[in-house]
Amino acid sequence: MIVVMKPGATKQQVQHVIDLVREYGLKDHVIHGTDRTVVACIGDKRMVDKGAIENAPMVERIVPILAPYKMASTEVKRTRTEVAIGPKQFPIGGRRVGVVAGPCAVESREQLLRTADAVAAAGAVGLRGGAYKPRTSPYSFQGLREEGLKILREARERTGLAIVTEAIGLEEIAPVAEAADVVQIGARNMQHYPLLEAAGGCGKPVLLKRGPSAKLEEWLLAAEYVINAGNTQVILCERGIRTFEEYVRFTLPLSAVPELRERTHLPVLVDPSHGTGHAHLVPAMCRAAIAAGADGLLLEVHPDPEHALSDGAQSLTPAALTEMMSTLKRIANAVGREM
Ligand code: PEP
Ligand code: MN
Repeated sequence: MIVVMKPGATKQQVQHVIDLVREYGLKDHVIHGTDRTVVACIGDKRMVDKGAIENAPMVERIVPILAPYKMASTEVKRTRTEVAIGPKQFPIGGRRVGVVAGPCAVESREQLLRTADAVAAAGAVGLRGGAYKPRTSPYSFQGLREEGLKILREARERTGLAIVTEAIGLEEIAPVAEAADVVQIGARNMQHYPLLEAAGGCGKPVLLKRGPSAKLEEWLLAAEYVINAGNTQVILCERGIRTFEEYVRFTLPLSAVPELRERTHLPVLVDPSHGTGHAHLVPAMCRAAIAAGADGLLLEVHPDPEHALSDGAQSLTPAALTEMMSTLKRIANAVGREM
């Protein structure tokens, strides 16, 4: 449930409500809006005397939260969450549309720095690249691991881009959170609940990809795990789902973007690279994603896609990224955004 305070409630009056809520064994999350403060109360409400809370000074009303995900829902927080990423604190979820681009995997210092320079020049705000790679086959390239993280740090120092990289397991959370600006939780791990909780305590923004077979509600409940563990800095990323269709690697359901904007205040990125599996389909899906209201894009870019160690077929060249950016800007402007 949400306790809505009247406009002008003092800090002490809000604290009094928090104390009452805690007495009933509920967890409190205070959200300061532009004109009023609300206290979201999470936990078992059966033993709560709602009347007592309702009668507390400067309480306006109590409303139930109907969505199963609570803190992630627009019922609790109507204003959109902006997640500031990287050395330049670029706000994902605001008026500006942010592009995070880079190779599927960090393959070498030369490959990453070359890509980083190119994506920075193209106007990206973040650099992606897996140091730890979750691969379908155990015989595929698994990533440079710690060495990859070192190279990513160097790329940030050189370009000022925000570093986005995946933690594939519990052991990787700490090193990734230390090296990166955003900790990515991959599609395969969307329902790895202990990992979500660890991400909730990592102290860095979290990029949560949608599981290829997860419903929106399951995805938002996964986000709820991260928020509930203490981290409100969550960015969602639609990366396509598994269907019967075979001309694409995954099917990219762009209707998720407007639906998510209704259900959650969290920013939403779209990843048309994994979402199609084919570089030639990526630019059109980028245009469509921005038109649909996405807060940004997560893109695979490789200086030599033909020789990439992973996901070359879906990787844009730096030239293709640069070429696409001016059109994307125009689409962003047409839907009231900036790029
Ligand atoms: C990735 O973005 O590096 C990745 C592995 O994607 P996903 O988890 O969506 O498959
Ligand atoms: Mn990839």
